Amino acid sequence: MKRIGIDARLLKSSELIIKKSMAHNSGQCLPISIIAQEAIEYIKDQNLEPENTMIWAIESKLSCNIRLYPQHIKSILENHGQGMEKTHVYSGFLTHLEISLSACYHAYFAYLLGGLIRMTGCRIRPYEVISGETDEVISEATSILESAFLGKKPLDKAVQEVLAKIGMIRHVDDQRPKVALFGDFYVCDNDVMNQGLIHTIEEAGGEVISTPYTDFVKMTLDNVIRRTVSRGEYLRAAQQRLLGSCLKLLEDKYYSLFRKYLGPQKTIKPGKLEKHLAGFNINPYNSGESYDNILKIFHIIENYPGISLFVQANPAFCCPALVTEAMTNEIRNITGIPVVTLTYDGTNDYKNDAIIPYLQGRKIRI
Ligand code: SF4
Repeated sequence: MKRIGIDARLLKSSELIIKKSMAHNSGQCLPISIIAQEAIEYIKDQNLEPENTMIWAIESKLSCNIRLYPQHIKSILENHGQGMEKTHVYSGFLTHLEISLSACYHAYFAYLLGGLIRMTGCRIRPYEVISGETDEVISEATSILESAFLGKKPLDKAVQEVLAKIGMIRHVDDQRPKVALFGDFYVCDNDVMNQGLIHTIEEAGGEVISTPYTDFVKMTLDNVIRRTVSRGEYLRAAQQRLLGSCLKLLEDKYYSLFRKYLGPQKTIKPGKLEKHLAGFNINPYNSGESYDNILKIFHIIENYPGISLFVQANPAFCCPALVTEAMTNEIRNITGIPVVTLTYDGTNDYKNDAIIPYLQGRKIRI
């Protein structure tokens, strides 16, 4: 967004902000109140004028009522008052396509490269020789990519620079039990909200398998297009299909640079993954996070043999999380892999120690 001239800022989170946000909550899933509180804190901290400030929120037809996010964030700001009621809330596409083609193109690569770097970090960090080196390199990588996305250097060069830095991290060749994360978007990749879940798993002796958003998009694209067609939005469905194919071509070029760490590019066949839905009584016209979780679980099993544990990470009051949690026995029975559910309730109460007994003394599954 900055590249195309928008003064875009990233909201900051903290344990304190999460706790304060609970004052706005009357039973909705926590991310809504947290985003609103983060915006309030940021506007105050940076002395912004609320009437000249707009919060970017997602427009989506996903079935967990994510569509209400913009409206509900606005009503939290109105209830809070003190000038914050003047803040605008923008309802934008995840693709950023309505802003511009260039914004869409770069947003996709931000998701792709962010996801690949996160995965590479999870692949190397448990085996690093100098503790903390991987995190330092990831932080440098983020700055390098940021300047490329701002147009200050070519993206190709920036990725090569990042990989050269990653290549310098000293690490040993070893194998730990693999732990795959699934669950809520907001929680899985939010180290503040999930109380440092990835580091806890690594300290307990595991290696984390994370999933980039771009893989998630590829897994669910067929479902999105099917439902778009069923609503009679044919032009939109054709755009979605075209966009998916174009981005895939561009993505291959960047993925190949990460192959050394992440192995061959994973093939995602949504049709094959969707065959597992019937076992959970899910209809191909359903959608939302519980649906996505099933696809994700079987994608992970097919592409990462030897998963020792699944961790389902959710915020409190999340409806699809409860539905998925109700399916965990079935997931365990069908896959033979244990599942631990962690629900973060916005308090200081530490949740992650529940996974430690599952990892201690666990042998590698081949
Ligand atoms: S998936 Fe859960 S936390 Fe995320 S928006 Fe839906 S209800 Fe809220």
